[in-house]
Amino acid sequence: MDRISTVKYLISLILVLGAEYLKSLLLGSQEEGFSHLLFTGVIILSLRFLGKGPAIFALFVSALISFRGLMFKDGDPYWHTPHFLTWVLFLAENGLIIYIIDTYIRQTNEGLLKEKRFKTLIEESSEAFMLVGVNGSVRYHNPAVHRITGYTEEALRTISVWELIKEEDVTTLKEHFFKVASHAGSSITVQHRMKKADGTFIWAENAIANHLDNKSIQALVMNFKDITGRISHEQEMGDFLGIASHELKTPLTSLKAYTQVLEMRLKAENNSSSIQLVSKMDKQINRVIGMIFDLLDVTKLQSGIMYLKKENFMLNDLLTEMAENLGNVHTSHRIELMLDKNVSLHADRARLNQVLVNLVTNGIKYSPGGEKIILQTRVEDGRVTVSVRDFGIGISPLEIKNLFSRFYRVSSVRESFQGLGLGLYISNQIIEQHHGEMGVESEENQGSRFWFYLPLSAAEEQS
Ligand code: ADP
Repeated sequence: MDRISTVKYLISLILVLGAEYLKSLLLGSQEEGFSHLLFTGVIILSLRFLGKGPAIFALFVSALISFRGLMFKDGDPYWHTPHFLTWVLFLAENGLIIYIIDTYIRQTNEGLLKEKRFKTLIEESSEAFMLVGVNGSVRYHNPAVHRITGYTEEALRTISVWELIKEEDVTTLKEHFFKVASHAGSSITVQHRMKKADGTFIWAENAIANHLDNKSIQALVMNFKDITGRISHEQEMGDFLGIASHELKTPLTSLKAYTQVLEMRLKAENNSSSIQLVSKMDKQINRVIGMIFDLLDVTKLQSGIMYLKKENFMLNDLLTEMAENLGNVHTSHRIELMLDKNVSLHADRARLNQVLVNLVTNGIKYSPGGEKIILQTRVEDGRVTVSVRDFGIGISPLEIKNLFSRFYRVSSVRESFQGLGLGLYISNQIIEQHHGEMGVESEENQGSRFWFYLPLSAAEEQS
């Protein structure tokens, strides 16, 4: 036992003896109930200030003193059942008191420790945390908010959260914020610009979560970090891709034209072995041109400049035309059409054709050895759903959620099938721009069914 513990045990002994002395001073040796009350007080004090060990020791010493007072008369042992029961009760009561108070103290200490740990984590975090009221008032902020925005602690205490946001982004952010605020437990992650105290701007990625129903928070939690570096890197990459693809497009288009002229001349000369080589060359050029168009589309989408050229056309005409064209090029698969009634669409015909070509060529590409692709439409509930069914390699459920992301390719096909992983991303964006939705159902080694729907206006549905 170290010195401090010894002192603690000594103090509890002195307290018990002191209590006994006080009792004998005030009441003589008659009133045991009073001394039990004093002993209980000493035990509680020991537990609170000296610890569990000294408290048990105080109980032990008090029990000895009490036993002597109750079970001895004039120095001789003396059996008296009610006295014995009083003594047992004293032991039990105080044992219970020690147990209950000790458990309570331990739980409180654990709670305080957890709170302290959590607080340190938040306070030391490089990410910003704010508790924001529905009216935009900042109820709590961690030091990172000050580090990221440059606003002083005083300013942050009085500021409304909207004053931290770049004016152009306030309306959109408010829309997201109030949507989250109106759905208990919901959350969203958005990117927007923030205004720093020195007037400069940063890009932030902000996760907003509704904790209004959580009694200990009762606010919306905003957790954001500075992603200016990442955004400018992405912009540089996008610019580079845009410029590089644009510059490559012109010479490649000329190359394709020369190849076609060459093919025509070789045909005229009936030079069949060279014709084969040139047509292979043409196919490869087509692939490179396709990739370049995809890269250009991605840069257009990223900078928000992919504009739709909408026109009126009949959907089934587009599907039939597209199936016929692809059928001529890809003779390995039969494209079966199962078309519902024809509807007129007001949409970007070339872009929808691009989506369909992408889905059907993917269906063909990822079903080697397959015989057919089923292209089906269904008109119901104010929308038309177009689906492309193949009987190929399928996709594992784990990969499906990422399929429509930029540059995403299923890991198991990367080696065996060529591609950039952009077709589905671009297609999905085109469908979203038409206020539709795209999705997929798939089973490994059974095949996939990619679908998209487009909303129909009342007039379109009547057609
Ligand atoms: P790419 O085909 O050029 O890789 P996509 O964006 O068109 O790019 O497709 C992304 C990924 O989705 C593909 O790499 C492939 O793994 C998977 N995928 C697309 N269509 C199918 C399909 N019909 N069957 C199985 N996997 C598919």
